[in-house]
Amino acid sequence: MTRNLDIAVFEGDGIGPEIMAPTLAILRKIAEANGDYTLTFTAHPAGAAHYAKTGDSLPKSSLDAAGAADAILLSAMGLPDVRYADGTEISPQIDLRKAFNLFAGVRPVRVGPGPLSPLKIPQGREIDFVLIRESTEGLFHTQGTGTVTDDYAEETLRITREVSEKLFRFAFALARDRKAQGRGPGRVTCVDKANVFRAFAYFRGIFDEEAKAFPDLIADHAYVDATALWMVQKPWDFDVMVTENMFGDILSDLGAGLMGGLGVAPSADIGLDQAVFQPCHGSAPDIAGQGKANPLAMILSGAMMLEWLGLRHDIAALAADGQRLRTAVESVIDAGQILTADLGGTASTQQAGDAVLAAL
Ligand code: NAD
Repeated sequence: MTRNLDIAVFEGDGIGPEIMAPTLAILRKIAEANGDYTLTFTAHPAGAAHYAKTGDSLPKSSLDAAGAADAILLSAMGLPDVRYADGTEISPQIDLRKAFNLFAGVRPVRVGPGPLSPLKIPQGREIDFVLIRESTEGLFHTQGTGTVTDDYAEETLRITREVSEKLFRFAFALARDRKAQGRGPGRVTCVDKANVFRAFAYFRGIFDEEAKAFPDLIADHAYVDATALWMVQKPWDFDVMVTENMFGDILSDLGAGLMGGLGVAPSADIGLDQAVFQPCHGSAPDIAGQGKANPLAMILSGAMMLEWLGLRHDIAALAADGQRLRTAVESVIDAGQILTADLGGTASTQQAGDAVLAAL
């Protein structure tokens, strides 16, 4: 029986709709070519432009529809000039993380043999790791409610056992899946600052407890400052890394830099019941409307969505299509012929999308 899956689509702000269009075209083509499943995409309003028009950045009807969908595909949101009264930017992507408890921010970092990475990769080495950023607590716990007086400002870092256990189990399960696919040795590295902060010693303690349930995998630790160094000096040593929200926020941009830029960095925010797939980058208002935005991070995020849906619903063809789409994008990146301006090329958004279709 053909299974239909409903995808809630948020087109976003700035370049958001421009990179969503080729992504949906590709996903529709892939699904049409496969008899085992169908995908229904429904767009819902949200974002900075919607807030400027209506005073609501994420309408309840959109939130409800996202919750009822099988997955959420989200383009970049936010505009620097559109802000709440307290001066912070509207960020429905963060609201969705909180609303659906999307604790695992998954940021794959894969550097191929193409011309994009600033690193010199030694012969025989491969950079293919995943950074998992806890996405609901940590130093973002008091986001929007921190104390600010004339004399001091204060935010609170919070680590809970409940979220940390789920996070570490997710990280170990991912390392096990990757090992089964021949990607990585089955190692999970807990990235923290346990030498200085009691909260991180607690975080590390929970990690060690959870590791006992995965004796077939390697569990180790690294301090976040050393990790930043090693991500540049020997990134091929990493497999799955798991860390706190703010550390993950920073290290994931470093990971994007290793790949050649934000334009090729996909991400997913995954919880037990729902998941959002979106590029790591923002709405790039400086290039919006010019047809030159790079769609590859958005398309790779779509590929992650197919893989996640395939595994979750046990539809092998869907997971295989996700892998096929990822490989197609990687081949376009590695060939280095049809690249957008952020990657040093001259291709338009449309041409980059067409190159992925041709590779498929
Ligand atoms: P940004 O990622 O939008 O842009 C940074 C630089 O990278 C810009 O020069 C931009 O042109 C370039 N860039 C980013 N994505 C690109 C792409 N796909 N193709 C080509 N070039 C690309 O970051 P910013 O300028 O700090 O933020 C702009 C807005 O986006 C802000 O309102 C910010 O809050 C928001 N934002 C949203 C998200 C999200 O939705 N997850 C993430 C980060 C920033």
